[in-house]
Amino acid sequence: MDIQDLHCIVIGAGTGGLAAGALLARKGAQVTLLEMQDYPGGCAGTFSLGGYRFDAGATIGCGFHEGGPMDALGRELDISWPVKLEPVAWQYRHRDLSLDLTLTRTAVLDRFPRSAAFWKEQSMLAELLWKLSYGGLSWPVASPRDLANLAQKAVTAFPGTARLLKFATMTALEWLESHGLNTDGQFVRFIDAQLLVSVQTTSRFANAVNAAIALDLPVSGASRIDGGIGRIPELLADSIERYGGAVLYGKKVDRIDSIRREVLGVETTDGDALAADLVIANLTPDSLALLEGRTPEPAVETLPPRWGAFTLYLGVDSAAFSLPGINHVQITASEGELGEGRSIFVSISPEDDPTRSPDGLRAVTISTHTRPGPWFEALAQSRQSYQEMKERYTSEVLSLLKEQLPEAAGAIRSITAGTPVTWERWTGRRGGYVGGYPQTSLFDVRSPSSNYDNLFFVGDSIFPGQSMPGVVTGARRCVELALRRYGKKGG
Ligand SMILES: Cc1cc2nc3c(=O)[nH]c(=O)nc-3n(C[C@H](O)[C@H](O)[C@H](O)COP(=O)(O)OP(=O)(O)OC[C@H]3O[C@@H](n4cnc5c(N)ncnc54)[C@H](O)[C@@H]3O)c2cc1C
Repeated sequence: MDIQDLHCIVIGAGTGGLAAGALLARKGAQVTLLEMQDYPGGCAGTFSLGGYRFDAGATIGCGFHEGGPMDALGRELDISWPVKLEPVAWQYRHRDLSLDLTLTRTAVLDRFPRSAAFWKEQSMLAELLWKLSYGGLSWPVASPRDLANLAQKAVTAFPGTARLLKFATMTALEWLESHGLNTDGQFVRFIDAQLLVSVQTTSRFANAVNAAIALDLPVSGASRIDGGIGRIPELLADSIERYGGAVLYGKKVDRIDSIRREVLGVETTDGDALAADLVIANLTPDSLALLEGRTPEPAVETLPPRWGAFTLYLGVDSAAFSLPGINHVQITASEGELGEGRSIFVSISPEDDPTRSPDGLRAVTISTHTRPGPWFEALAQSRQSYQEMKERYTSEVLSLLKEQLPEAAGAIRSITAGTPVTWERWTGRRGGYVGGYPQTSLFDVRSPSSNYDNLFFVGDSIFPGQSMPGVVTGARRCVELALRRYGKKGG
């Protein structure tokens, strides 16, 4: 079949679905993307409320550095991203500690001088990993061709790849231990806070290789996005249309039609039925199961936990709440496990971005990791229990914010909260699990393949997991495997 005759349906306009759709459209396939909301982006969307434009979940642009996954995608799709490098990626605060995370890591090295050798090793590993991931990652391997690809890259990057092997089965905590840093409580908490927002677990469980690339974020460059993070999905949607595809909003897929291992097409809640040769599902496996008419396995508590998010959207008075040069602050409580209101990530819309808020005000997004189960249990109990839980989390998050930024107390003009129940409704992710999977192993990971020969997953539930660069890297792999089936060269 010629690629021009390939009818592809993409379910979902998250970053992963959009990137896969745009790469397929660029190659000439006929792409129709169906999105249930009336705007794109999912976890990386920006929504309008009360005159503000709030980033729903993701707030930091990463992977836009030269040669990074977003930079490479932009070049390939001829998109010029509206990004600017943040001088300070974010500020980390814990008790009386305040560290600006910058391109040079100076503040971290000044405060934790014993960590210098660790950071040197981290840089070496990250550099190698960026090199290995350039042009896509054939992982997990699906064929001898993938193995040959990997071997070729490994040989080119030798002897670095040989050094990498040592870290492949190590936890981040064991890696810290090898530098005598595991007993420095403040340093471990600092690392844990960085890992939780990137690889979705702390050093005790995180794989060292995943940790190395995650800890590179401030140094490889964090970007602000004019208009909010949702501009990135919007530009990807435009690109699908520019290459001849269609992006349809308000179209919720509620069923996939299949015979044995072949999907024939999809049906939408408004009664449309669309045939397809190839389906790309920007869904979690649990959400896909619902479309197949299967009951997904009941959610079980895992260790390390899978997370959802509790988010607050605040309108604040710009004059009263100003941190010159800093648009993001990460705060951890004095003690206790991270998450559940004891660690928060605060993002403030840039002062000079008039598209985000009414004059004199700014749009703030605050998120904390939370386990989704109890939220659904509270809702099942009664609306009042759910409401009380929401109020308790709101008050705990605001009190941690005010502990570190007392000026916030008088600056807040409006408050809206999002719970895992809200997130499930917004993103269609069953159970409200967001942020990808805890990255504990390089080997126990999900590939884009599914139980169907012509349906492939994309998004942060497949390798390499969460974040814009993560799902874009996964989208390349998804397109590569999907087109391989039709004897075409992948993306
Ligand atoms: C609180 C929070 C903070 C984060 N911070 C950052 C950050 O700062 N930087 C960063 O890079 N990443 C961050 N991330 C991670 C990043 O946002 C995600 O990994 C990424 O956006 C997920 O993309 P995805 O492709 O998996 O799609 P999703 O975002 O899951 O989107 C799926 C899309 O599919 C649609 N959909 C679902 N079901 C259907 C259906 N049946 N029919 C039609 N459409 C459907 C949904 O409406 C949605 O638009 C954060 C995530 C969260 C939750």
